Amino acid sequence: VKSVDVVKAIFDRIEATDDKIGSFVSLNKEKALEAAAAVDEKIAKGEKVGALAGVPVALKDNMVSYGDPSSSCSKILEGYEGIYDATVVTKLKEADAIIIGKTNMDEFAMGSSTKTSCFKETKNPWDTTRVPGGSSGGSASAVAASQAFMALGSDTGGSIRQPASYCGIVGLKPTYGRVSRYGIMAFASSLDQIGPFTKTVKDAALTMNVIAGMDDYDSTLEDVEVPDYTEALTGDVKGMKIGVPKEYFIEGIKPEVKKVIDDAIEKYREMGAEIVDISLPHTKYAVSVYYILAPAEASSNLARFDGVRYGHRAADINGVDDLYIKSRSEGFGDEVKRRIMIGTYVLSAGFYDAYYRKAQQVRRLIKEDFEKAFEQVDMILAPTAPGVAFRLDDKKTPIELYLEDIFTISANLAGLPGISVPAGLAEGMPVGVQLIGKAFGEADILRAGDAFE
Ligand code: GLN
Repeated sequence: VKSVDVVKAIFDRIEATDDKIGSFVSLNKEKALEAAAAVDEKIAKGEKVGALAGVPVALKDNMVSYGDPSSSCSKILEGYEGIYDATVVTKLKEADAIIIGKTNMDEFAMGSSTKTSCFKETKNPWDTTRVPGGSSGGSASAVAASQAFMALGSDTGGSIRQPASYCGIVGLKPTYGRVSRYGIMAFASSLDQIGPFTKTVKDAALTMNVIAGMDDYDSTLEDVEVPDYTEALTGDVKGMKIGVPKEYFIEGIKPEVKKVIDDAIEKYREMGAEIVDISLPHTKYAVSVYYILAPAEASSNLARFDGVRYGHRAADINGVDDLYIKSRSEGFGDEVKRRIMIGTYVLSAGFYDAYYRKAQQVRRLIKEDFEKAFEQVDMILAPTAPGVAFRLDDKKTPIELYLEDIFTISANLAGLPGISVPAGLAEGMPVGVQLIGKAFGEADILRAGDAFE
């Protein structure tokens, strides 16, 4: 098959389905067809092509790419076009992947439903009355609805793994420091990581081969060798020690979801893995810690959107303070404003010690829980989310939405890799099982995820 034909077929599919699903906020049909033709030409000439040659890829809207709309689905950046490529985009292009467009997301990646996007709602391809999850909901729905072969998302507190679980696909959040964050619009810089959505674990491994590794533009990367992740996929988990943390099976988990996870544990036991009961005692603080630290970092990162340098600038302004206040008031949505207020509050002189510093200390304890657990086990198995995709018209309060993240947030706080792999159905909707690995242990969780499929 020619790459051009594959890309044409993908755009036909998007045109036929995206009215109903709403995965994309911008498309690059012309550029994509040109890039595909270039790949076909290389092949015709017998030139070497990259590992993702001709593969149609979608990007979350918070990833900058040259000349393309990149807005984090925020009104404050509506109409902004990237003036450079994010490192992941450069790496994808070098691997001859075809970038087809940008996907819908919660504004600045704050949310679990994709409903805080300034543009539109995205629907779950399994049931269009339900959310796809979030914040990378458009990337997840695009892959689930076969509108892209692979999509990148970002995960600060679960935004790859939770939508993967809700949409019945694979989503991987790499170790903090594994994949360059250069060119992704920062939400909470100490937590953000980019990772793939795919239909199979093997495709996730192939993507990791391309996007992982050092980059001069991100000093938080660690110089750890990038293995060939596909070589880890032996199909065998015999002797692997899988920890099951008791704290992940009590609070708020739906019984039907618990059943799917219990069956997954049984399946691993039958495949020869050793299941070990463990404890991560500080789990109960994770949501609180996250909702102090992530807004704190966000309030600082979002200070750059001031109506001067990028995006929306208010009209009829009276002096510079008025310019900032009006541009930001008009440009940011409610959830983003809520986070900026929380973040500013916990960082303010009178409250820093009580909130921000305390949260940092508890973050350390959460990290140490994992370090202790990994003295006993190779990886940890848990649910990805406490329920299945909820309804679009479900009016959840902010706190109810924050509790959605209860099982995913700890991996971000500890900087560890996590993967969600489809494990079964509850209420007719997909449920993912989550595997959390040691730092830079992506190969282990990919191997176990692949053996499970
Ligand atoms: N749902 C979480 C939040 O709203 C996580 C978002 C994310 O991972 N980007 O902050």
